[in-house]
Amino acid sequence: MIDLNNTEIAFKIKNNKELKNAKFLFSMIKYPFMVRILGFMSNWALKIKFPISWAVKPTLYKHFVGGETIEECFPVMKKMAAENVKSILDFSMEAVEKEEEIDAVYRELLKSVINSGEHAEIPFSVFKPTALTTHNVLKKTSLNEPLTPEEQISYGKFVHRFDMLCAAAAKTGKPIMVDAEDYWFQQTIDIVTEEMMLKYNGKTAVVYATLQMYRHDRLDYLQHLINFSKQNNIIAGVKFVRGAYMEKERARASEGGYPSPIYPAKEDTDRAFNEALRISVENCDGIRVFCGTHNEKSVSYLMQYMKDKGLSNNCSAVYMSQLYGMSDNLSFNIAKAGYNVAKYLPYGKIKNVLPYLIRRAEENSAIAGQTTRELTMLKQELKRRKAK
Ligand SMILES: Cc1cc2nc3c(=O)[nH]c(=O)nc-3n(C[C@H](O)[C@H](O)[C@H](O)COP(=O)(O)OP(=O)(O)OC[C@H]3O[C@@H](n4cnc5c(N)ncnc54)[C@H](O)[C@@H]3O)c2cc1C
Repeated sequence: MIDLNNTEIAFKIKNNKELKNAKFLFSMIKYPFMVRILGFMSNWALKIKFPISWAVKPTLYKHFVGGETIEECFPVMKKMAAENVKSILDFSMEAVEKEEEIDAVYRELLKSVINSGEHAEIPFSVFKPTALTTHNVLKKTSLNEPLTPEEQISYGKFVHRFDMLCAAAAKTGKPIMVDAEDYWFQQTIDIVTEEMMLKYNGKTAVVYATLQMYRHDRLDYLQHLINFSKQNNIIAGVKFVRGAYMEKERARASEGGYPSPIYPAKEDTDRAFNEALRISVENCDGIRVFCGTHNEKSVSYLMQYMKDKGLSNNCSAVYMSQLYGMSDNLSFNIAKAGYNVAKYLPYGKIKNVLPYLIRRAEENSAIAGQTTRELTMLKQELKRRKAK
């Protein structure tokens, strides 16, 4: 079995200064109160337009983000690619509601899709469908509520933009992933994603849906997608994640008086996640798997199951992925063993990326063991280098 804790391989592309910065960062976000203070101060700074980039840029931003523009991401993309770890450019832009702003975001997304076709280091493109229209329109269509004539126009533009991004991906020959977000937008996103799969997926998977396996209906939906691909004689693309909005979903369900869409316990989510991987590998003649996780047990499970099924490490039906700045021990060690690996590489202006950075800090702080694991490995690698 592969050693997933080999720190020399994990941190090969990081210099000592970068490792020390990461060590400082993780030792801060280990404390939930520090993350709360950070979140509060960032929101306040954003509101009153107080400049905080001098503090954020050399620390959190440098660790979790590739740069402000696609071009600024190239150096890090190249360094990772030299170690067989590819990049997925993830344009970070928090919710915009005005048509002109939505259109500007759409144009940047289109640029990043076209860019993926021009660089061997980028195997996929990705977008958040909520960036393509207003939240109100997505929510109303998902809940089957009637739209006003103006909202109907907005919805038409949403489908058009969605289609154009998928068409551009098809033209580049690189697949595109449709991220998943809040539960109450997802029904519309699933419907449009399936339409796009019908339009662009054939013998290859161009469009990938995202399944958040903390939702208790997603194993059934996976089975639906498998049947759907068989009936339509297409290859389906599926990205599996556990899901990033658990607290929000639970609170919203409780306020709205409907049952929570999320499993009651972490073990249920873990079981569903691994089961989805098993089912997909079992059906890998009709499905392409993208496994987005920092969970070592799930990564090991997938590698073992691929081996049991006689799939090669670099089988093109399976990709594994982590976020930039997290779990390099997984990404670089499994890439070294020949598996297909890509890291989500966010880019964007500091003020737009800030909410993403706060989420990363919160996630690392909340997930028991995650920060400690990162810290232990960073310390171990610094010690190993010093002893050389
Ligand atoms: C490449 C990549 C792409 C991603 N894209 C998306 C995306 O499109 N949409 C999205 O929502 N997220 C996305 N995420 C984030 C992801 O959903 C998780 O939040 C994050 O990866 C942590 O889960 P984990 O599998 O890494 O590890 P773990 O640390 O093992 O799992 C933590 C997760 O388990 C679940 N969980 C925790 N406690 C409980 C509980 N009490 N009951 C039920 N479930 C619980 C939650 O989903 C939590 O995030 C992505 C992550 C990666 C690596």
